Amino acid sequence: MLTAQTKMGVSICLGLDYKKDTLLELRSKEEFFCPICGESVLLKLGNQRIFHFAHKQGGVCHDFYENESIYHMEGKRQLYQWLVKQKIPSILEYYDKEIQQRPDIMFKFNGEKFALEYQCSTIPESILIKRTNSYLQNGYHPIWIISSNQIRTKRNNMVVLSNFQYLFLRTTAAGKFYIPSYCPDKQQFHFVGSITPYSIKNAFAHHSFYPIRKMDIKDLLEPKINNQIDFSSWNKQIEKFLLNWTLHPSKQHHSFLHEIYNRNLNLFLLPTEIGLPIPHSLVIQTSPIIWQTYLFIDCIDNKNIGDLITLQELSFHFNKRIHRNEIVLRNLPQAKTGTSLSAILDYLLLLEQMGIFTKMGETTFKLKRKIFIPRTNREKEESKVLFSQKYQRFLSNR
Ligand SMILES: [Zn+2]
Repeated sequence: MLTAQTKMGVSICLGLDYKKDTLLELRSKEEFFCPICGESVLLKLGNQRIFHFAHKQGGVCHDFYENESIYHMEGKRQLYQWLVKQKIPSILEYYDKEIQQRPDIMFKFNGEKFALEYQCSTIPESILIKRTNSYLQNGYHPIWIISSNQIRTKRNNMVVLSNFQYLFLRTTAAGKFYIPSYCPDKQQFHFVGSITPYSIKNAFAHHSFYPIRKMDIKDLLEPKINNQIDFSSWNKQIEKFLLNWTLHPSKQHHSFLHEIYNRNLNLFLLPTEIGLPIPHSLVIQTSPIIWQTYLFIDCIDNKNIGDLITLQELSFHFNKRIHRNEIVLRNLPQAKTGTSLSAILDYLLLLEQMGIFTKMGETTFKLKRKIFIPRTNREKEESKVLFSQKYQRFLSNR
């Protein structure tokens, strides 16, 4: 840990820049105590590790702080110094007695209280969710920042994310999603934005890197997120994914494949309107190919031209699939606007742009054209070309 108190109760915070000589002198004269448990701690001034305090004995504090990596200590120290430089009231290794939580940094900004957690290791999902909820219930804005070395960047427009990493997802005031990460070695933030998953773990994404010295707190809380996605690389990836699926189908995929087979559908000849990238699709863990197929067979395909379709109706069928565990939602404790309704609405609005529906009201649409089911590879290719042209026009008009 980086903070301790002297016998007289003077707080020593190693997050500030102390010279080694100053600390050596201090150590020769003073004893140090943990501000949380009151136990005696040692001031460690080695050359290998960052200067820090260490508990002599076991106990809760020992378990909490003694396994900290240099990477973690260095990261929280840099983040703390960065806040202090901006004159933001901050406390390193804050302990909130009432809720018994220890955010790495507590700071106050714009009259609001923030709990910053810099997470360098994987902890059980349930613990992260519990801590987040406890912060939210006690007037904190939690900010979980994941260490950059945990983010697996697959080329510039892709990312591999585990369920644990999705827990770091935050929303900007404008409702855009991003995962903030920080690297103390490079002294830079790495934001993963525009996350559009096509499978449970793989997603298209936009990576942006910012040196910490060029950033201020607003850039962390409200970063600019670029929302473009390249449709032809999306399609290529979806095709690869489908091929991989038929080669190694999981148990859940079996029931899906079985169902579309019974419906006389072919996985490789699904309508081009199925498996589309939409902004809120990350709230759903199940691949967009699966949940959009379910919406199609449960509801959209049963409609005739001129029939009305509502968001509520689609959501009803969608929820039935959730109950049967055929669609799974993600756990996103920090994301404020993440509901499956927004994802379904995104999808309806995109289909409206593609000429399938006419919008009649906020959540009511009318079927304008039946979705075409290709019967041959050639028909599929032709409909893909037409669809791509429409989609490109839609993107450039936005
Ligand atoms: Zn302690």
